[in-house]
Amino acid sequence: MIKFYNTLKRKKEDFIPIKKGEVKIYSCGPTVYFTPHIGNLRAALFVDVLKRVLRYYKFKIYDVVNVTDVGHLVSDEDAGEDKMLKASKRENKDPYEIARYYEEIYIDNLKKLNIILPKYMPRATENIVEQIKVIQELENNGFTYKTSDGIYFDVSKFKEYGKLSGQSLDEKKAGARVKLDDEKKNPQDFALWKFAVGDNKNHIMKWDSPWGEGFPGWHIECTAMSNKYLGENFDIHTGGIDHIPVHHENEIAQNTCSKAIKNINFWMHNDFFTVDNGKMSKSLGNTYTLQDLIDKGYSPLALREVCLRTHYRKKANFTFESLDAGENNLKKINDFYTKFKEIKIDENLDSCLTKIPEKYLDKFEDAIKDDLNTPLALAAVYEFMTEINRKQLFSLCDKEEILNFMERTDIVLGLLENKGEIPQEILKLAQERKIARDKKDWKKSDELRDKIKLLGYDIKDTKDTKEAYILNIIK
Ligand code: AMP
Ligand code: ZN
Repeated sequence: MIKFYNTLKRKKEDFIPIKKGEVKIYSCGPTVYFTPHIGNLRAALFVDVLKRVLRYYKFKIYDVVNVTDVGHLVSDEDAGEDKMLKASKRENKDPYEIARYYEEIYIDNLKKLNIILPKYMPRATENIVEQIKVIQELENNGFTYKTSDGIYFDVSKFKEYGKLSGQSLDEKKAGARVKLDDEKKNPQDFALWKFAVGDNKNHIMKWDSPWGEGFPGWHIECTAMSNKYLGENFDIHTGGIDHIPVHHENEIAQNTCSKAIKNINFWMHNDFFTVDNGKMSKSLGNTYTLQDLIDKGYSPLALREVCLRTHYRKKANFTFESLDAGENNLKKINDFYTKFKEIKIDENLDSCLTKIPEKYLDKFEDAIKDDLNTPLALAAVYEFMTEINRKQLFSLCDKEEILNFMERTDIVLGLLENKGEIPQEILKLAQERKIARDKKDWKKSDELRDKIKLLGYDIKDTKDTKEAYILNIIK
């Protein structure tokens, strides 16, 4: 049985999907106003491992990662400017230009880290009508009030407020960092709709609404888009631990009080990356982007290895020593795999020498089923490699077992760089087909697709870039 730690219950629980064989997952995604740093990427890697483990056990996955391109204010507690507006001033660009630019970098980073792209990546700005609808439901059900700068949610009306973080409203009030806005009834009340006034007066991103021109608050997009793409009940909701006390409490309040979402079975949260055992922050100059690491000569997958080496619920301390170890381990695992792909087998041996893979596969599976214990899972693979490396002779059966072990475990780890390469011939045909499609020559495109099928491959068409198009060739 797969077990995940459920933040809501504060314990590990057996994972039982709502619908047999299917999993619906919603993950709070990036605010696209800056190049993601390695902390943001750690959060994305945690979600990727979660989905890969479910994929390993043959679940069909419906996953959503939202793109916040409006409404996330400089402070999570709804104070200050919209982050998009701030970035737009910083770079002297239209906020939409900023959003699309950083979204592209985010997706590029995901691909470099071998993260499987989600089925849906909806943008907040493209789901305004849905958000307005949820706010109207909240209004009809009596949970909102109006101030001079927006429509707010009154948390005192939701008795369960605080259940995710395990803090009652009184405890939250006592520890509040936020100065009580004169017009807010409770410090934890949060904006559902912001009027285009004050700091946000010149916001280009604004829409008409029943309450006047403005833009949605940050939290409402997650309620609206999870309902739209996954329905009223879904299996897992993820995010960073920073989301527990504010963003996710607010989502739960909106979900329940609007009745948009009835039930989410698991809430899962990843811990943070620290740098040199301290906070990572722009002012300290210790935030790193993936490109910074690449510029220093590291492979993106070395960062993936580093993240896998720490359990997602533990703080991970980023150092260049650990990245060096990541690079070494990455090389070891890939050299091992390549060696066995090319190894000359001993013709005189016609059976498997040992049952070694099974022992390590059990260890690997016990680890991934236990709340995604990737450090133990990785250790099982490294121990397996060490044991195999002691041997000299290999039969064909050994070779197949070894490659099979490495490929199977890589469904979760995603560290092999040249696994299952698509033959050049297929890539060439796919490229020819793309040209035919671009010319709207459907007949030729279909012929080429059939030819590719005969060679054992199929193409899934997407609107995405050339790169994704090629990657979508499936065997
Ligand atoms: P943001 O783009 O700021 O909304 O953040 C995107 C995600 O990255 C959120 O889920 C945060 O929890 C997560 N995050 C931000 N900083 C870190 C960090 N230092 N380590 C791990 N995750 C982080
Ligand atoms: Zn969210």
